[in-house]
Amino acid sequence: MDRRVRATPTLVRDYFQLFVNRRAYTLQSVRPHPESGRHYYFRPKERGSGAPLSLTEKTVSRHLEGEITIGLYAINPSSQRCKWVAIDADYKNAMEDLLKLQYHLTQDGVESALEMSRRGGHLWIFLTTPLLARKCRIYIYDLAGRLEVPVKGSGLAEGIEVFPKHDAIGTGAFGNALRGPLGIHRGANRRFWFYGADYTLEAQMEFLKRLRKVTEEELDQFTTGKELPADLGDPQREAKPTREQPAGRNQTTFRILDHVGKTRIVGKNHVARCPSCAEVRHDRSGDNLAILVSDPRFYQCWAGCTKEMIRAALGHPIRVPQRA
Ligand SMILES: [Zn+2]
Repeated sequence: MDRRVRATPTLVRDYFQLFVNRRAYTLQSVRPHPESGRHYYFRPKERGSGAPLSLTEKTVSRHLEGEITIGLYAINPSSQRCKWVAIDADYKNAMEDLLKLQYHLTQDGVESALEMSRRGGHLWIFLTTPLLARKCRIYIYDLAGRLEVPVKGSGLAEGIEVFPKHDAIGTGAFGNALRGPLGIHRGANRRFWFYGADYTLEAQMEFLKRLRKVTEEELDQFTTGKELPADLGDPQREAKPTREQPAGRNQTTFRILDHVGKTRIVGKNHVARCPSCAEVRHDRSGDNLAILVSDPRFYQCWAGCTKEMIRAALGHPIRVPQRA
């Protein structure tokens, strides 16, 4: 039903205009994690070269048509600016708080769009031109403080999260991505629409385009003399360039040999079917993947699948910070 939707070039262009502030993006894994059942996000890389993939019109089109699900970054590190601000809330009474924020934003003349999410919603505000992430954050945190809306991280386990999540990010850093709107969530297997317009891509996009956007003058006016609350913790902490996420509390060490099925030893390597090749029905002979016997953390697909692709194909993507 939903999946037959076609993304016209106009739709794709409008999507870029509204949401895309840099070409780096994340991709939600198609296969759920075998233990948690969740669909994690990873940064896609090019087969062969391993170079990070850039967001293209084709990728956005596939996202809108529901074939893949992308995550978007708020801040462009070359300017420390963003095109939008999104407030994510997924706790009990989250909707109540988002509606309260939305109402009080309109008192400032700021229009916003409320998008459904798996548990709660995302409230989106668009900007006429990219504006400083730091000022956007000051404005929202100040408003939340005045309305006594809980903010996650300020000593509270539950509360709103503001994207951009950082005031600024370093060169080569990404910050946190947020699920790109209007796609199909892999886990929920459905589209989360915006309230306020018909449930078609065209109607939703027209609604979003018509929203009044915040100007630089307005944002300056809203934030004059204001600072970020001191109890927000260290926003720079996750803003540094990250490689692979280290094994954390909820992430056990990944061992490729636990996942590839039958192997045989050829020289210095275990040889197995490459899971990424297998997804597209390649590697019928089952010998594309070589895993170093002396240290199985090192493995390589002879057809050029990247580590990211292999991990994603196994439902164990190399995870990056992301909100769905
Ligand atoms: Zn492969």
